[in-house]
Amino acid sequence: MSRIMVTGGAGFIGSHLCKRLLDEGDEVICIDNLFTGRKANIRGLFASPGFEFIRHDITLPLYVEADRIYNLACPASPPAYQYNSIKTIKANVLGSINMLGLARRVKARILQASTSEVYGDPGVHPQTEDYWGNVNPIGIRSCYDEGKRVAETLFFDYHRQNNVDIKVVRIFNTYGPHMDPNDGRVVSNFIVQALKGKDLTVSGNGTQTRSFCYIDDLVEGMLRLMESPEDFTGPVNMGNPEEFTVIELAKKVIELTGSRSRIVFLPQPEDDPKRRRPDIGLAKRTLGWEPVVRLEEGLRKTIAYFEAMGAWET
Ligand code: NAD
Ligand code: UDP
Repeated sequence: MSRIMVTGGAGFIGSHLCKRLLDEGDEVICIDNLFTGRKANIRGLFASPGFEFIRHDITLPLYVEADRIYNLACPASPPAYQYNSIKTIKANVLGSINMLGLARRVKARILQASTSEVYGDPGVHPQTEDYWGNVNPIGIRSCYDEGKRVAETLFFDYHRQNNVDIKVVRIFNTYGPHMDPNDGRVVSNFIVQALKGKDLTVSGNGTQTRSFCYIDDLVEGMLRLMESPEDFTGPVNMGNPEEFTVIELAKKVIELTGSRSRIVFLPQPEDDPKRRRPDIGLAKRTLGWEPVVRLEEGLRKTIAYFEAMGAWET
C-alpha cells in the first residue's frame, strides 16, 4: 500500500485516477481548488477509509507526506485555461515548483500530466516524443502550451539537479464520464448539444483532426508509467492513435444519440491545431501499453453518463 497524492484529483482524469488507486488498495490524498473540478466527481470516494480531500491551490506550498505524486492540477479545456491565463501559467510554473519541491523533500516519485499541446500545431505527423513542437509563444493558447512546456523543463531540471524521481506523460485528447458538461471540450459539447437537440457547433470547416482516448485506457497507462523502472522518465505519449476529423466525430455523436440535431459551422479558434495523432510506439515498447477501447464504445459509455446526469438540464 502506498500513500498517493493526486493534484487536480476532483477533475475529470484525476477523479478516475483516485478511484482506481483506491481500488488497488492505496491511500489517496486528493488536492484540488475546485476551479474546474467538481465535488460530484469524488463524492463516491469518501466511503473509502483510504480517501482524503484537501481543498488547496497548488500555486501555494503544501506540506504533506506521500510516496507518489500525480500532478494534474491545471485547467485543461481551452475556455477554462483562457479564462484566467495568468493563473494558468502560475498553476504550471509555481504549481510545478511547489510539487517538485515537495517531492524532493519527502523523496516521492512525481508524475507530470503534460499534454500533446507541447507539440502546438505540429509539423510532424503523427507526433513522436522527439519532435520539439511548433508553438506560438504569444497567442491565446500559449498560457497552457508554454506553461506545460516550462513544467516539463522544471521536471527535467529537478531530475538532473536534485535527483528527483520523475515521470512525464504527454496526454492526447481524452474523454469519458466526469467531463464537465459545460467546460467546452469537443466530445462533451457535442454529446450535450445532441442530447438537448441543439445544433452541434463545429469550428472551422471541421476537417481538423483529433485522436480520442477513453479515460480507462489513459488511467491504466498512467499507473504503468508511475510504476515503471526509475530510469524511464519519459516524456511518453499516451492517447489513442485512431484519428478522426471533427465532422466525423459530430456525425458519430448524432448517430449514437439518435438525435435530430444539425451541424452548424463556427469560426475556427486562433491557433487551433489542424492535425493531431500520437505515435505510441514508445509506450508500447516500454510499458506494454496501448488503448483497447474503440471510439464508438467509449462514446456510448460517455453518452450514458451524460444521460444519467440529466445533462440536457445543464
Ligand atoms: P479538469 O479541468 O477536469 O481537471 C483539472 C483539475 O485541476 C480540476 O479539478 C481543477 O479544479 C484542478 N485545478 C486547476 N488549477 C488548480 C490549482 N491551481 N490548484 C489545485 N487544483 C487546481 O481537466 P482534466 O481533463 O482532468 O485534466 C487533468 C490534467 O491532464 C491537466 O493537467 C491537463 O492539462 C492534463 N491533460 C488532459 C487532457 C485531456 O484530454 N483531458 C489532455 C492533455 C493533458
Ligand atoms: N471544437 C468544435 N466544437 C466545439 C468544441 C471544439 O469543433 O464545440 C473543435 C476545436 O476547435 C478543436 C477540436 O474540436 O479543433 C478539439 O477541441 P477541444 O477543445 O476538445 O480540444 P483541443 O483543441 O485542446 O484539442
